[in-house]
Amino acid sequence: MAEIENEIAKSSARSALTNLASKRQFFDNGATLSYAFRIKQLKMLRDAIKKNEHSLIEALHVDLRKSPTEAYISEVGFLLNEIDEAISHLREWMKPKKQGTPLFMEPSRSEIRYEPKGVVLIIAPWNYPVQLAISPLIGAIAAGNCALVKPSEDAPHCADAIEKLIEGTFQRDYISAVQGVGSEIVPELLDNFTFNHIFFTGSTNVGRIIAKQAAESLCSTTLELGGKSPLIVDKSANMKVAAKRTIWGKLLNAGQTCISPDYVLVEESAKEAFIAELINAINSFFGDDPQKSDDYPRMIHDRHFDGVAEYLTKGNIRHGGRTNREDLYIEPTIIDGVSMEDPVMKNEIFGPVLPILTFKTNADILEVVRQNRYPLACYYFGSDKDRERFVLDRIEFGGGAVNNTIMQIANADLPFGGIQGSGSGRYHGWHSFECFSNPKAVISTATWIDPSIRYPPFTAFKRKWLKKFIRF
Ligand code: NAD
Repeated sequence: MAEIENEIAKSSARSALTNLASKRQFFDNGATLSYAFRIKQLKMLRDAIKKNEHSLIEALHVDLRKSPTEAYISEVGFLLNEIDEAISHLREWMKPKKQGTPLFMEPSRSEIRYEPKGVVLIIAPWNYPVQLAISPLIGAIAAGNCALVKPSEDAPHCADAIEKLIEGTFQRDYISAVQGVGSEIVPELLDNFTFNHIFFTGSTNVGRIIAKQAAESLCSTTLELGGKSPLIVDKSANMKVAAKRTIWGKLLNAGQTCISPDYVLVEESAKEAFIAELINAINSFFGDDPQKSDDYPRMIHDRHFDGVAEYLTKGNIRHGGRTNREDLYIEPTIIDGVSMEDPVMKNEIFGPVLPILTFKTNADILEVVRQNRYPLACYYFGSDKDRERFVLDRIEFGGGAVNNTIMQIANADLPFGGIQGSGSGRYHGWHSFECFSNPKAVISTATWIDPSIRYPPFTAFKRKWLKKFIRF
């Protein structure tokens, strides 16, 4: 069976490879350079998403049991907003950006021209399978690239829907999709074709493998990875609102969200009040039995279910804890009494389990956070401005929010990405355009004047004035 799967992956890699040569040719012919071409493709993508809205939402339900509302907000609607943003700003983004010119180079004009990188590979994970395959593609199109999109095999219905959408919208020589097992298909692709950029979203471990492979051809990468994102609450917080926003962020996609709060660090004196509000929030969102709620998703597959269920075996369960493997269901669960040595505090949880730890001082906060340093996100709830400044200044993270969760991703004006282990590179809005572009630096100089001072032979007089000029 494994051999057959291997052969299938190899043959689909081979067919994608054949097509990559045509993509290179398509790109080299300059077809993607004009504004008219790019805007047309963006509009075609927007129309295709609208046309396929139902099948995408259906696929998200089958693969992850996402409710239509959640699927629209976090995937389909999210993408439509992002395309609208690109369409409305594309002309301005594509314009060369004028830069200042030092006096000694005058009369000259300096500018940055944003050029497409070329043929790019986009690799997506399973948790927001539609959003994370198509969102980078919007940037790739806007910046004038050809692209190959590899959706996650772990969300197979979404992968089929994405492939269908892409193949039904674009010329294959321009943009296409390839399906298969990532660990087999991607190395085959990278060994046999030199991409101009790889945009990878997924786990830190696989990100490391991709970065190593990309280094062979010195291909640039954007790595959107994972991590343990802390949520810090102190006694100055509005407990009710803090709890609702924490639970909303944690249980979106049943915790399978890269920027969901992974664990809570609450000021010791506020711990019990906060836990009580967290439980109220769970009950008010999903009722006494969340398994019956249409709004509560499931674990993606049994391997992931087993990993998350394992976290329930250590610490004290303060709420939840019920599971059903057949249904891939894990109840929203709050635990305390865990140690930093327990797996739940060592790994990214990526499920509906929320450990509660406490702190008394800012030093305690740093001590905990630095054991899982460089998270993708970080959240602070409270009205203590000193503490807010401390969190924002002293904790290194990709993006975050004060008195909110997740929303940093929804503002296209904010760059999205991680640092160190949680990733490198940024995207969304202008940052997606920038991510898929090479900034070409150009200086154009007038010829009506050509002072001889810059040319040899360098006399003492020239040296004296050159030294002055260069420092001007
Ligand atoms: P994953 O790394 O297992 O897989 C991601 C993609 O890589 C899939 O398409 C897969 O087929 C491919 N892949 C797997 N092994 C490969 C290999 N050896 N070589 C090349 N490609 C390979 O990740 P996942 O389980 O799909 O997603 C969950 C992880 O993604 C979590 O860690 C989460 O935090 C992270 N994530 C990050 C972001 C972000 O924006 N930073 C967003 C979503 C998910």
